[in-house]
Amino acid sequence: MESSVTASRDATRSEWRNWSGHQGADPDAFAQPETLEALRDGVVNARRLRVVGAGHSFTPLVPTGGTLINLDRMGGVRSVDPESQSAWVGAGSRLRDLSPAFHEQGLAFPNLGDIDVQSLAGAIGTATHGTGRELPCLSAAITGVRLLTAGGEDLEWTRERDPERLQAAQVSLGALGVIHELRVALRPNYRLHRRTWAERLDSIIADAAARWERHRNFEFFYIPFSGWGMCIAHDETTAAPTERAPSTDDEDLMKAKRLRDLTRWCTPLRRAILSRVVRGVTPEDVVGDSWRLLASERNVRFNEMEYHLPPENAVDALREVIDVVERERRDVFFPIEVRQTAGDDAWLSPFNGGRRISIAVHTHARDEDDWLFRRVEPIFRRAGGRPHWGKLHSLGAPELAELYPEFERFLALRRELDPTNKLVNAHTARLWGEPHHG
Ligand SMILES: Cc1cc2nc3c(=O)[nH]c(=O)nc-3n(C[C@H](O)[C@H](O)[C@H](O)COP(=O)(O)OP(=O)(O)OC[C@H]3O[C@@H](n4cnc5c(N)ncnc54)[C@H](O)[C@@H]3O)c2cc1C
Repeated sequence: MESSVTASRDATRSEWRNWSGHQGADPDAFAQPETLEALRDGVVNARRLRVVGAGHSFTPLVPTGGTLINLDRMGGVRSVDPESQSAWVGAGSRLRDLSPAFHEQGLAFPNLGDIDVQSLAGAIGTATHGTGRELPCLSAAITGVRLLTAGGEDLEWTRERDPERLQAAQVSLGALGVIHELRVALRPNYRLHRRTWAERLDSIIADAAARWERHRNFEFFYIPFSGWGMCIAHDETTAAPTERAPSTDDEDLMKAKRLRDLTRWCTPLRRAILSRVVRGVTPEDVVGDSWRLLASERNVRFNEMEYHLPPENAVDALREVIDVVERERRDVFFPIEVRQTAGDDAWLSPFNGGRRISIAVHTHARDEDDWLFRRVEPIFRRAGGRPHWGKLHSLGAPELAELYPEFERFLALRRELDPTNKLVNAHTARLWGEPHHG
């Protein structure tokens, strides 16, 4: 479940690939500093620079021909304040390592996404989210940031002392500097009651709004070509933990792939078999610690486009997307995921200004994904969606400026902190409307 860095024949160079294998880079240097001084040296001496967390973004946010820096060796919990229920941590810490460390202190993340292998800085860098009508994305839990600017200046912004710059840094795609420490707002440990079940799509959609109100976390996955979806609900409980059977998600996906291959030219047969298979999936009904239940393991590699839509437009957009997939894309077998996230005030958060419903379409890593840009993205755009920063999209500065009220302010701060564009790569040059010279 990792991105990979491989040393090439020339020992000073290393190749990098993201988790899905879709993005690659051949940086001049790959650095994993262990101290702030070493990090500062790396930053100051780099010609061009990008930071990589766990390499789980699908967009080319990370590739650089300059220096690639990773903070895996500067992770860990620095301090915990039980009174304010918050902790300063190394920004490169992986979520999966932080959760058990917080658990020992009686604390937990308020919410998590689908996986927890990301670094904290990487996850907040793209506004990683889970699901829950009242639960904002991970970036909203960040109450303090320490970062090195491109010139090597060490800055600290907190909710108390510089709330506006904090809002800029909460979702900043590595554009403002290298974040080396983060303060995260936690809550007392909690257990969840997890239930999963299969249900017809029409009935899920008819009741989805009520379920988002009723359950702490609610989401569903539509299984293309089946008419059925899998629902997942989590609610807080004080009940004792129960045994959980090992996940069959990966095997189920591979079964769906085999069925696609066998029935490729007979969609009615695929529908008939798939709807029976989905109906037959064993429901889950378990109790456990929040962090053990919210995040899953994902081993079947894919690429993904996810847009965050105004809730009132989400159902129509979902139906349109399903229609495109089922009429035109018999190769698709990954579920379409639908979640809801509460609003926040980070300048570049896709949830800035109010809650959004997110729709995610996945393609197997070996299958085509260019159709997502041609056939799915226009639907999301018409519905007023904002793209997930870490997932496939084609937007540049002019479109983003229309979607984000604070976009120009972010660009001004970025220019102030990185006047030579050291932290800009080809992809972010497009996002920020800057030239890129390699
Ligand atoms: C299998 C899978 C499941 C996923 N599930 C979800 C989900 O449920 N919800 C969701 O919202 N997203 C999800 N994602 C997307 C993922 O959470 C985001 O792309 C996230 O940004 C990846 O974190 P990372 O640590 O891999 O960061 P990277 O992809 O390595 O980097 C992301 C950005 O953060 C920047 N960055 C990293 N470290 C630093 C630092 N120290 N200082 C400054 N900038 C930094 C990078 O430069 C880059 O711009 C999923 C991705 C995969 C592959």
